Amino acid sequence: MATLNDRKAIINSIATSEFQLNRVDIAHDHFKDCFGELVFSEAVQRERLPKPIYKALQKTLRKGERLSEEIADAFASALKDWALEKGATHYTHQFQPMTGITAEKHDSFISPNGDGTAIAEFSGKELVKGEPDASSFPSGGIRATFEARGYTAWDPTSPPYIMESPNGATLVIPTAFVSWTGEALDKKTPLLRSMDALSEQAKRILKLFDKKVDRVFTTVGPEQEYFLIDRQFYLSRPDLINAGRTLFGAKPPKGQEMEDQYFGSIPERVIACMADVEMQLYKLGVPVKTRHNEVAPSQYEIAPIFENSNVATDHNQLTMEVIRRTAPAYGLAALFHEKPFAGINGSGKHNNWSMATDEGENLLNPGDTPHENAQFLVFCTAVIRAVAKYPELLRLTVATAANDHRLGANEAPPAIISIFLGSQLQEVIEQLEAGTSNPTKKSEFMEIGVSVLPKLPKDAGDRNRTSPFAFTGNKFEFRAVGSSQSIAGPNTVLNTIVAESLDYIATELESRIKAGKSLPAAIQDLLPSIIKESKKVLFDGDGYSAEWHAEAERRGLPNHKNTVDALPVVIRKDSIELFTKYKVYTESELKSRYNILCETYVKTITIEGKLTRFMAHNQILPAVLRYQNDLAATVNASKAAGADVSAASNLLKSVSEGAAKLAKAIAELDKGLEHHPKGELIDHARYSRDVIIPAMNAVREAADELETMVADDLWPLPTYREMLFIK
Ligand code: ADP
Ligand code: MG
Repeated sequence: MATLNDRKAIINSIATSEFQLNRVDIAHDHFKDCFGELVFSEAVQRERLPKPIYKALQKTLRKGERLSEEIADAFASALKDWALEKGATHYTHQFQPMTGITAEKHDSFISPNGDGTAIAEFSGKELVKGEPDASSFPSGGIRATFEARGYTAWDPTSPPYIMESPNGATLVIPTAFVSWTGEALDKKTPLLRSMDALSEQAKRILKLFDKKVDRVFTTVGPEQEYFLIDRQFYLSRPDLINAGRTLFGAKPPKGQEMEDQYFGSIPERVIACMADVEMQLYKLGVPVKTRHNEVAPSQYEIAPIFENSNVATDHNQLTMEVIRRTAPAYGLAALFHEKPFAGINGSGKHNNWSMATDEGENLLNPGDTPHENAQFLVFCTAVIRAVAKYPELLRLTVATAANDHRLGANEAPPAIISIFLGSQLQEVIEQLEAGTSNPTKKSEFMEIGVSVLPKLPKDAGDRNRTSPFAFTGNKFEFRAVGSSQSIAGPNTVLNTIVAESLDYIATELESRIKAGKSLPAAIQDLLPSIIKESKKVLFDGDGYSAEWHAEAERRGLPNHKNTVDALPVVIRKDSIELFTKYKVYTESELKSRYNILCETYVKTITIEGKLTRFMAHNQILPAVLRYQNDLAATVNASKAAGADVSAASNLLKSVSEGAAKLAKAIAELDKGLEHHPKGELIDHARYSRDVIIPAMNAVREAADELETMVADDLWPLPTYREMLFIK
């Protein structure tokens, strides 16, 4: 039996383990039969709700209106019956607090009758509003503790589902989480508000194109990257357990340089785990579509078919949760951290984003006719303008201590936000801009409403992997999002800044049309000026190169290299104006979020600092000293025997010097951790960045050097070459 710090025993145990690989009954469960079977989906609702109730519900949902009590009661009753049939004993209002993960409190359906028996009860009121005792969730100062209660409000646009566990099942009701004064305490509420804002403005544009739609949705397909390593390794690394990433580990002899992992065949144990995860997700109605190996060893990706942003966000949380919970059954641990292993590619989450009408028309689809092209160009220009105007807000949405290891490093997109359009669209945009300044140059003139756009490629050929924000044929792909974060924040900001651009464009077009211009003429008149002022953000070269960093600086594009530099934009005047204008965040919500972001950063670094100290001082240094002691004994014994002592004494010298270096670095880190800076939260964050992180790095450097010297059988931690390659 392997003990946790016995690496040989662990490896032996992996080699001889027989994992139970067939938890999914492939003969009976097929996704096409069980897709959505645990979801109270639209189809189930249609079947189970009284017809007038179902119709009224659909109407309110389509229009984004409030629900009546009558609908809520009828819905609750049908939902309860369905859930009980599926074996549910409890229900929970699940919400997404600012921790970035989901939270829930379970209540039983049971209600005593007073005669010793019990019945199951669930009313519309219980469905619509729940009261978790949520005083310990981060609120950034919105609630004083005496009024610490918030409530969860049912989100009827994300369907309830059943979460099965070995000894029971729970009905999960997706909810928004707000304080008694109506302020958002979660990630879902602002996302829903931003979807409303975008819908309103997009509808104004569509109206100019003679399209009456009830609602415009934003759509998202998040590609999720993660690592799977053997769970026994995971459990013997305090850093992986508590910080989600390794704080120590020398570079392995083999890293990812052979490029033999990407799209390679997936190991059997991993593929069994993936198939299990996918089957559970199908039942939960999550339309997962692709799976493959990623660039780094032991790194994988799972991607769904896109859905509206709200449901896609819920489903991405669910996907991470199901992977996390399923991995142990296969002796694996899932790592969602942005950078679990230094020197090895980190994980991101490509946020594919577009807008679509309630009838399913993708507004970033160029279409085939000049009329469709014109509409596409308006929406596309709106996105370009939004990113050019608010790059710092987009940067902010991906700013976390963990993502700092990726952004700006030579692998992931850089911290400079720029847009890649692909050569054809880039050319079209340039022609559009040139249109007014140089209309005589006929060949370079793009006449809106008359010219036909060239076919824009949707395949992977015309891709620029170094761009943080790329047009990919009929959607934009925001690639800077971190693998562990909720996609709610990035999409809330994306929706809001595009709503602002659509608002601007709609207003400008409306006034030109009022003055007598045709729609194509108005567009032709307006877009060039927008492109002129926004084109600084367009870049199709190598985003990793030093030249781009210099060029971006010349263009005046912001480049916030770390979270601490990126944070202050939250409470800047222009941000507050933007978010309050579109009713996405109130000023006090923004301030509270700013506090939470600063605090989270400080806490993350402090935990990592303390862990670094513990592991260096209590695990690594003792092993090094043991080895030093062995070597000293060898030197003495060899001397006495008259043998050549040079090998042992040279090594003794190096190891003891390394030990001294490590001890000194630990002492520095100790000093850093003890010192508490005065001032605002952001000052604490700066201190963490400027003092704690460098001190941690120095400890790591000394320890990693020692790892290459100390006898392998004494080393107390699973190494990179083991964790990444033993599967
Ligand atoms: P890749 O980027 O690997 O070439 P795809 O382009 O097929 O793969 O899709 C990547 C992701 O983008 C998928 O999750 C897909 O559902 C999503 N996607 C495709 N179209 C849209 C859209 N209109 N809106 C949002 N996401 C989309
Ligand atoms: Mg992609």
